[in-house]
Parts: sequence; structure tokens; C-alpha cells
Amino acid sequence: MNVYDSDRMGDVLAQEGYVATDVAADADLVILNTCHIREKAAEKVYSELGRLRSFKESGMLIAVAGCVAQAEGEEIIRRAPYVDFVVGPQSYHELPKLVSNATSLRKSAGRTSEIKTDFPAKSKFDFLPAARANGPAAFLTIQEGCDKFCAFCVVPYTRGVEFSRPVGSVLDEARQLTKGAAAEITLLGQNVNAYHGDDGGLAGLIRKLADIDGLERIRYTTSHPLDMDEDLIAAHGEVSQLMPHLHLPVQSGSDAILARMNRQHVADDYLRIIDELRATRPDIALSSDFIVGYPGETDADFESTLALVDAVGYAQAYSFKYSKRPGTPASDRDDQVPEQVKSDRLEALQNLLKRQQLEFNNDFVGQMVPVLFERRGKFPNQIAGRTPYMQAVHVNCENADEADHFLGKTLPVRIFGAFANSLGGCLETSIKQWETNLVEPARG
Ligand code: SAH
Ligand code: SF4
Repeated sequence: MNVYDSDRMGDVLAQEGYVATDVAADADLVILNTCHIREKAAEKVYSELGRLRSFKESGMLIAVAGCVAQAEGEEIIRRAPYVDFVVGPQSYHELPKLVSNATSLRKSAGRTSEIKTDFPAKSKFDFLPAARANGPAAFLTIQEGCDKFCAFCVVPYTRGVEFSRPVGSVLDEARQLTKGAAAEITLLGQNVNAYHGDDGGLAGLIRKLADIDGLERIRYTTSHPLDMDEDLIAAHGEVSQLMPHLHLPVQSGSDAILARMNRQHVADDYLRIIDELRATRPDIALSSDFIVGYPGETDADFESTLALVDAVGYAQAYSFKYSKRPGTPASDRDDQVPEQVKSDRLEALQNLLKRQQLEFNNDFVGQMVPVLFERRGKFPNQIAGRTPYMQAVHVNCENADEADHFLGKTLPVRIFGAFANSLGGCLETSIKQWETNLVEPARG
């Protein structure tokens, strides 16, 4: 979501004549877009600010945006008084005003920093300019905030109450993106399957998106098990553009921990949803988030998480050590798990997940899969894309022309190598066959 938000900030500032640069030293304005979900992410902001400070003398404006801005507004200015302004995730449309205020303030004697972290009554989406697709795979935020209040999580505090964008505005943006370069759209939300922009919920929205010409692939993330309703599960079997991959975080396999986390379901509920999804779409690839070392987590609780992972068989997953977040109920508990125990559990869990991931990828060796090529790879003439199951695939083209030609297209690829985080493949179409239409590209 921060990638999407950063792009939208770029769209707003483009109207003011700003262009993006990869080199901080060249910038008139640097905005750090930040994450508050775990302590490590939040602390990075301050080290990054320290690094940027030396550029201030040349007149650079420095701003902090995102959830750290929202949660620690005053604290940021206290620790880094040279920051010109702080802007929360709901106020990006106000960037032009914030920049011009900061510019005039800098010239005045009693310089202060502006903090814009209130939750405005009107949604920023009503004010943001049209989104521009900057690649074949685009993000589109449809839902923000969360009302679930899991005991470990800062999202309900930093992103506010659950909000869904109206269907019409989502469809307009999706059409805009597909008219540009996008062949794939990932619908974003902190709790995306709680989407209620109209009566049809997320499933209804997906069905409407599927009617857009040129939109080959639809994905959505991140979902909560409680909102995985029958219609959404059914859509996985019916909508061919909806890709067979789902990120459905469970956090823990222990019912006692799930209850203390306030996840509002037990492990069996989750397993039942997985069974239903697999009955609907047998090849669906699953991914999850896990937290290890949640306050009070015993060895037996952790074993239940390993057992759940064994039972599901994941294609991919993210796992984290529990991180105390200020203001959340779990951070006040007096049964915090020692750091070493967290590290040991994280290692054991990640070893198991890595084995599953490699196993999942190995099954593709020798197969043909449709890959949407999204970007150039690390090596010359290499292009990279994703399978329907979200695996990254690298392919070497004959030459740079061929590489450019295939970017943005979905093509059949023969997989010859599997690693834990990617696949290697080769194109069965050459550029000549493509141009003379001897080979039709695979779709979907
Ligand atoms: N809405 C999603 C998750 C959004 S936060 C859901 O309900 O599943 C993304 C992930 O960050 C979470 O799934 C969780 O695994 C992790 N996370 C959130 N707060 C955390 C904390 N305090 N410590 C460690 N990991 C955390
Ligand atoms: Fe955080 Fe997700 Fe729980 Fe909401 S549902 S509080 S975003 S973990």
C-alpha cells in the first residue's frame, strides 16, 4: 500500500511540476513514506532522516509521510527538528499546500514545522488526480483502515476506521490504469475483503472489474479470514481473471493465542476456509503471515502453528517476531516472550515454510506457465514477471530488442529451474514467430 501511496503522492506533485529522481542529492523535496507496523520499520525512519540531514543546506525540503507520521507526528519533530512537515496517510491531497507553506516558512524567522495528521471528513480519493499506470502490474487501493482491533496491531490507530471507496471510483481508476500500461491490477486494503463499496462486496467488485477490456489479471490483498465469505470463495472458481493465489494471514495455529490476539476465529475455521477454496479452485496457491513469540505463547502453542503450516502447505509466507507496538493491548501484557525464544521459533518456522515454498516451486519444473512480464531483470536482456501463482520468473531474451518487445505481454514460459523465491524459464516463442503471428500469446 505504501508503494501505491507513494505513486499517488507523485501524481499530486507532478501537477506542481515535480518529477521523480532516484538520487536523493538531486531532490528539492524528499518525502519518506513510512511504516509503523513493527518497531524495526519505524526506527528506520530516524536513521534515514539522519542521513538526509546533510542535504538540508542545499535547500532541500524534508517531509515524513505514512503511518509513522500519523502515530509519532510531534515525536518526529522533536527528534528531527529539521523536518519541514509531517503528513498522515489521509492527507496526501494536501501536499501542494504543505510544500508551499514549508517553502514560505523557511524564509521566515520563527521557522516551525507543520503537522497534518487529522482525519479529514472528506476522503482524499475525492481530491487525488487520476492515477497513472507505470507498469504492466498496477496497485489500486479500494479499502483503508480497520475496525478489527487485533491486540497486537497499530493499523486501526494509524489508518483509522474501515473505509471503502465507491465502486464507480474504483472502476474509473481501473479503466484508467488498463488504458495505460496495466494488464494486472492488485486491489489493496488493510482488510481488503471487508470491502463494502456497494452491496456486492469484494466479490461483486471483482466481477465488475472482470468486464474491463484488457484487464487480464486481478489480485487482492490483504484479507482477513472472517471476511472470506461464500460469494468471494465462489468468485475464485468463476472469474477466470482472478488469479489462483490468495494471501490469507492466520498469524498463529493456536486457538488460545488466536483468542488473545482477538482474531475472532479458531484454527479450524481457517482450515475450513482453505478446504472450501481448494474445492472451488483446486490449484489455488496460498500464502500467510505469521507472528511468533506473541505474549504468552508456549512451546505447545508454537507447535500448533507448525502443525497448521503442515496441514495447509503454503506456496509462500511472511513471518515475524512479535513486536511491541505502543498503545496496543498486547504491548502491556506482562507475559512477553524472551527475544531468544522468538528468534529460535522464527528460524524453525521459516525453515519449514522455505521447504514448502521450494517444494511448491519444484513442481513447476518442466511445465509451461503463462508469465506476465513486468520489468527488466538484473542481467542484460533478462526480463522478469510472475506466474498466476505469484512466483517470480526470470527469462533471458536473445537481445535487448526482444526483451523490450516482450515487456508487458503474457507469454508461455517453459520452467527449467526452481529456487525458494523464484523460477527460471525460457520463452518458447521467438520474436520472429511473434511478429508473424505464428504463435498466439497465452492469456490469463
Ligand atoms: N490485515 C491483515 C494484516 C495487516 S498487518 C490481517 O489481518 O491479517 C501485516 C502483517 O504484519 C500482519 O499480518 C502481521 O503478521 C504483522 N504484524 C502486525 N503487527 C505486528 C506486530 N505487532 N508484531 C509483529 N508482526 C506484526
Ligand atoms: Fe491489524 Fe489486520 Fe487485525 Fe486489522 S485485521 S487490526 S489490520 S492485523
